[in-house]
Amino acid sequence: MTAAEKETARMLVFLLFFLLLLLLFAMRSSNDTYQAIRMQMIELDIRGRGISDPAVLSAMGSVPRHLFVDRNYRDRAYGDHPLPIGEGQTISQPFIVAFMTELLELKPGDRVLEIGTGSGYQAAVLASIVKEVYTIEIARPLAERAGKLLAELGYKNVTVKAGDGYQGWKEHAPFDAIIITAAPERIPSPLIEQLREGGRLVVPLGETHSFQTLTLATKRNGRIDLQEIVPVSFVPMRGEVEKKL
Ligand code: SAH
Repeated sequence: MTAAEKETARMLVFLLFFLLLLLLFAMRSSNDTYQAIRMQMIELDIRGRGISDPAVLSAMGSVPRHLFVDRNYRDRAYGDHPLPIGEGQTISQPFIVAFMTELLELKPGDRVLEIGTGSGYQAAVLASIVKEVYTIEIARPLAERAGKLLAELGYKNVTVKAGDGYQGWKEHAPFDAIIITAAPERIPSPLIEQLREGGRLVVPLGETHSFQTLTLATKRNGRIDLQEIVPVSFVPMRGEVEKKL
């Protein structure tokens, strides 16, 4: 190698090193940007609107919501509104996710069932708090996408199944808590059976095409006690539940 060639090689190594540093810096600062926006969301829209359960605040602060929405909506992922997630479905606004999660009064050792996996975001929030999450999604493409993303992000305690959630998931019952994120007119009876005594179930209940009432169902002595909480707007629950009305 001539002296000039050595000099060129040295320059190239230097340039490569510089580019690598630049890349690392760009990656770090884009993660930091989302982290900062996420913290702002927690302060304004979650804690600021009355959510106080430390486990819920910490879970919402750790799940990268921008990765669960369509790439084109990433910059709006932390806004106080629902967003489309494909297949005509939506991811709920952050406050509603936090509010429903808080209503479940979760404990670290709990086993939770979710009906309506959608993007997998709510499942990731639950999985950051409890031991086991089982989630069922009727739209197969969504179930597959959510399962893949949750695995990539390292949520090892979530199991996703494609199918109608009406019958619940008997093999893993009883559940300490159940969350239904699509709106039925009545709570499917298999889900009530699969809720443990003293367990809590949260569901947007009522007329399925416009507004529903977010309802907390608690199981006491085998009976269900219903408590209406706030009006909400969810996509309708489909499948078997529609035939049973
Ligand atoms: N929890 C989701 C958003 C849910 S949107 C998230 O965090 O992104 C409601 C979802 O319920 C939709 O994806 C819809 O396909 C699904 N769904 C509707 N009826 C269902 C049923 N019978 N069983 C399972 N999933 C159902």
